[in-house]
Amino acid sequence: MIDNFLSFVAPHYCCGCGNAGALLCDNCKYNIVYEFKNVCLACGKPCGTTGLCNTCRVPYARAWCVGQRRDVLQRLVGLYKFERARSAYRTLGDLLLQTIPEFPSDTIIIPVPTARSHVWERGYDHTVLLARYVAKCRNLRFEQLLTRATSTTQRHASASERNRQAKAAFAVKGEIIKNTPYVLVDDVMTTGATIKYASQALLDAGASQVWVAIVARHA
Ligand SMILES: [Zn+2]
Ligand SMILES: [Zn+2]
Repeated sequence: MIDNFLSFVAPHYCCGCGNAGALLCDNCKYNIVYEFKNVCLACGKPCGTTGLCNTCRVPYARAWCVGQRRDVLQRLVGLYKFERARSAYRTLGDLLLQTIPEFPSDTIIIPVPTARSHVWERGYDHTVLLARYVAKCRNLRFEQLLTRATSTTQRHASASERNRQAKAAFAVKGEIIKNTPYVLVDDVMTTGATIKYASQALLDAGASQVWVAIVARHA
């Protein structure tokens, strides 16, 4: 058990097969990206190419997700969020880049803001690193347009408590450009409350369309 755990923490063993070389080898990367297709981000049911089914009512218009948070993806995200493996953002970012389509050239990439206490704990803001990497690789604008109004952490909160916190959590700082697509990037979606209210905050501030790109959806 300990040995298993250590092999995931060590930076140069594949989270999928354990082979030495990279956090995720090409083979395991391929399996993740090409196994998971067209599932509604909000409810998890099969859907068309928008990433959302017809019955879910969410403020964002399109959604992309690399996969469910289990197995390899679960280990990779866990490594990134909780084990201080700072460099894992490139591996997660590459998975996201293989999942999202080509965006219009004026698209603006926004990280979902992380609770301050988590940033202090880790010494880096994992969502900022991830979103900035995606923007850079696609040659798109990156802006930290959203801030968190509260510093409450969500890791142990109940679903209704998370919902209440999320509603009051976001503020837009800076100017919204009309008719420009805004893409919110996050590593994990748990209840969906965070991404919902972050999208709503952008729309309330005048954004015409908000899209969402997530690495792992809570299975
Ligand atoms: Zn592998
Ligand atoms: Zn749905």
